[in-house]
Amino acid sequence: MRVSIQTVLSKMRILSGASFFTRDEVVLNALARRIATHAADGEHVERMLDSWVTRTNEMLRIADVAALAADTRQAEQSELPQPCEGCRAGGGYFELVEQDGQTFGRRCGCPRGQRLAAMDAERKIARQNERKP
Ligand SMILES: [Zn+2]
Repeated sequence: MRVSIQTVLSKMRILSGASFFTRDEVVLNALARRIATHAADGEHVERMLDSWVTRTNEMLRIADVAALAADTRQAEQSELPQPCEGCRAGGGYFELVEQDGQTFGRRCGCPRGQRLAAMDAERKIARQNERKP
């Protein structure tokens, strides 16, 4: 765990004015522990909370934390390799492929495309794991 539960709790309490925020300390602690388990650092916690409040106005559920963490993991622009010739036209995120007269985007085979594909897979696994009872 790279972030303490106390740190997560203090960040969560910033949201305590919101109507949906739980006052249940047991739930809060369980949520903070789960967030701390998945967070890479304090900024990641903030991105998670930010993403959650912009997406919903319900209290975060423990089952949603892993997917939220995967969605907000830092690995966008700054850490990714530069786009290659193949995927630059697709905004650096997709290689545009023409097949049967239709154009569609797919992850490129260059280092950048491979990183994006790995992130896709990580997200998918996180979602699947959370769906299991
Ligand atoms: Zn590429």
